[in-house]
Amino acid sequence: MIGTGFGGLGAGVRLKAAGISDFVLLERADALGGTWRDNTYPGCACDVPSHLYSFSFAPNPDWSHSFSRQPEIRAYLDGVADRYQLRDHIRFASEVTDARWDPDRRNWQLVTTRGELAADVVIAATGALAEPRRPDIGGLDAFPGPVFHSARWDHDYDLAGKRVAVIGTGASAIQIVPEVQPEAKRLVLFQRTPAWVLPRNDRRISRLERWLFRTVPPAQRLARFFLYISHESYVVAFTKRPEMLKAVQNIAIRNMTRAISDPELRAKLTPQYVLGCKRVLLSNDYYPALAQPNVDVVASGLAHVDGNVLTADDGNAYTVDAIILATGFHAVDVPIAGRIRGTDGRSLAECWDGDMRALRGTTVAGFPNLCLVVGPNTGLAHSSMVHIIESQLSYIIDYLKALDLETVAGFDAQPDAQTRWCADIERRMGRTVWTTGGCESWYLNAAGRNPTLWPGSTIRFRRATRSIDRREYRSVGERSVGERSAGERSAGERSAGERSVDGAGD
Ligand code: NAP
Repeated sequence: MIGTGFGGLGAGVRLKAAGISDFVLLERADALGGTWRDNTYPGCACDVPSHLYSFSFAPNPDWSHSFSRQPEIRAYLDGVADRYQLRDHIRFASEVTDARWDPDRRNWQLVTTRGELAADVVIAATGALAEPRRPDIGGLDAFPGPVFHSARWDHDYDLAGKRVAVIGTGASAIQIVPEVQPEAKRLVLFQRTPAWVLPRNDRRISRLERWLFRTVPPAQRLARFFLYISHESYVVAFTKRPEMLKAVQNIAIRNMTRAISDPELRAKLTPQYVLGCKRVLLSNDYYPALAQPNVDVVASGLAHVDGNVLTADDGNAYTVDAIILATGFHAVDVPIAGRIRGTDGRSLAECWDGDMRALRGTTVAGFPNLCLVVGPNTGLAHSSMVHIIESQLSYIIDYLKALDLETVAGFDAQPDAQTRWCADIERRMGRTVWTTGGCESWYLNAAGRNPTLWPGSTIRFRRATRSIDRREYRSVGERSVGERSAGERSAGERSAGERSVDGAGD
């Protein structure tokens, strides 16, 4: 398995529950937690309610707020690793640099920064928002002060009293701005496209509620269920009736007008696309921060940098001491795709050619025994990704069980099954707000296709991933009589040709 965020850790738990213990979790960093380890910027929090943004099998009765802060989510993931005894399976500082399907050995040969290993099955849970996107802006590299991405925050640099530029107005930026504004001498916000920002109904969860959730677990399950249902109800508007979202825009407009009286600033901050086309943001303190006298909202992208001077696309220039890039992630061009090679030797990135596709968001034709967690078209704009991850994990467990039952070394997705699945997604995508809403977003690839989001309910996705349909897969390589399955073979029993990390067995 690759990655130790929600996807990798969840996979570890589910594998153990299925009686499979012969696995390793390869983690490129020296700590677990995925995006909740990497994003430590001030104000970092989740915009999905806490009781929904956690594993169904590991409820946390002690969430302190209705929307969890990053340190609490990170601690939760650490707790999951401890509770399910996953730490012994994790290999830190083991970045996968190459993984290729070996047709002779009928397994995966992986190269990591800590050595090589072989695996019967690879589960890639590397996340869709893991690799920071640094914009290609002339002069940025020569900027004399600190330049850091929101997901690589420089905690050693003190922003107090400094002139700070924030580039971007996505989910990260709107959390950063209210934290930086009070301490910065000047904050210059480069806004290429304004966001729709709804109020965040955040509150402390009382001690009484926490006690109740701890002592009467069904009470927490009920709370989670109501949150789930209320979020699920948005899906119709996002995927079938975007016109319904226009009513919600009024709430966002009120959220803005409450905080901002200057008509010129309001005009700059008012989006010209349908709410939901880009990710809907939640904040109570973003607009109040923008109304402060030490803030410049530049309704234009950052064009180029000359020394300390930042010039916007509209020609205006601003002198700053530090630059914060809240410019998002490589979501439609995930770097791991360039490192995984399938049956014909081509990488996933080469096969996809800028247009990610997978069968049920999980497997890819030509890449036997490779399972992607949060693969193409599994993203959500209306509910918790943890729900999707758990659906995918059920599918993967069923895949592994089916492999165990058959005398084959692997399953490879049938190209026509993958094509059918993607065509159905394509058909449904046409009606969604992400296609019709009149915006450009990170959900779309260069061709304007949406390979990131799931255009339906989480219920539909769960039904589609409950179990594998064997007709959608072709068998790869007969196993010889007596040869046992991946889960049944221990590290020491691997053939001599199979290498292991640090020679310690894999
Ligand atoms: P993002 O939504 O992709 O936003 C990137 C921002 O950078 C956009 O506003 C983009 O403008 C801007 N940008 C890029 N190049 C620019 C340039 N040259 N000049 C000016 N602006 C430029 O990235 P993100 O905010 O990191 O969020 C990514 C995703 O992570 C979210 O959508 C969400 O799924 C997740 N996330 C969630 C939370 C949460 O739960 N609270 C917090 C953070 C992130 P355009 O809009 O014009 O492209």
